[in-house]
Amino acid sequence: MSIKVEHASKSFSDFAALDDVSIEVRDGSLTALLGPSGSGKSTLLRVIAGLERPDSGRIEISGQEMTKIPVQDRGVGFCFQHYAAFKHMSVRDNIAFGLKIRKRPKHEVARRVDELLALVQLEGFAHRYPSQLSGGQRQRMALARALAVEPKVLLLDEPFGALDARVRTELRRWLRHLHDEVHVTTIFVTHDQEEAMDVAEQIVVMNEGAVEQAGAPRDLYEYPETEFVMSFVGTANRIGGKLVRPHDVEIAHVRSAGAEEAIIERIVHLGFEVRVEMALGDGSPLIAQLTRAQVAELEPGESQIVYVLPSRARVFDSNGSAPRTEELVAA
Ligand code: ADP
Ligand code: MG
Repeated sequence: MSIKVEHASKSFSDFAALDDVSIEVRDGSLTALLGPSGSGKSTLLRVIAGLERPDSGRIEISGQEMTKIPVQDRGVGFCFQHYAAFKHMSVRDNIAFGLKIRKRPKHEVARRVDELLALVQLEGFAHRYPSQLSGGQRQRMALARALAVEPKVLLLDEPFGALDARVRTELRRWLRHLHDEVHVTTIFVTHDQEEAMDVAEQIVVMNEGAVEQAGAPRDLYEYPETEFVMSFVGTANRIGGKLVRPHDVEIAHVRSAGAEEAIIERIVHLGFEVRVEMALGDGSPLIAQLTRAQVAELEPGESQIVYVLPSRARVFDSNGSAPRTEELVAA
């Protein structure tokens, strides 16, 4: 089911949590809402779910106007960051809850819950209580519960927010597999750009209640439309008014035209990649990302003075928009 939000605005007293937001989500796709805390991600998700009514604008699900349709009639399943499981109910009963209140026949509920337990790989845990699960397992139970009523749309608000890094990485792979299997149109909220890049086909970058840019992860990374997007999706350095990705910083031991002087402060070996942390003449930090081969050739050392040039840079106007790309032509 495709989702369309057109010119949605929502204020709390006089604070604009959403300011003229329009997004489009393709049927069966996996979209991330990415932005810093307070940028309006949860509000947008709640507006789509029907938990919040926008002051203006409209919501469409699968071509059908939903703006005034109550939450229970929108066919959405959702799962919130601080998911409250029913502590006194087993995993099975937690997952079955939505089906039971919809008065589905017993055998149908049992069959559906078995399917879901298999889908979220909790077959052996049906009789446990939430307190007897790990954080990752509890989150999978929450997803199973959201999927129980066969929603047309799945809305997840920071589903992995409270978990440690390794479990998050595992769950994110798992969410992608799950999505490949059930193809339910999914929107998930995250403030973690790596998570968004890793999981989503489309990323909607939000800032101060507005959409900065929406697109495929790679396009946002390569062709950010605003300075905000360039800095928020991936790392960006500032060298003389230009924004430069760490892997586009060229380091040399000899000065060349246009190069800036920098001092190497720290060299960090991260397996394949080596991070060189430097400071420019004015003291501002600069990070370069080199391959091991580049390091072998350059032999950088801490406290060395080097000369840096961007091989590719993005230049924005004074409003942080209207970018152009500058590529260094090899001499
Ligand atoms: P995010 O999910 O991106 O962190 P939210 O959508 O939760 O952001 O919130 C956006 C802004 O709207 C925040 O400044 C928040 O304090 C405000 N806000 C959200 N919900 C309410 C509410 N029910 N009442 C008052 N202010 C709210
Ligand atoms: Mg939020």
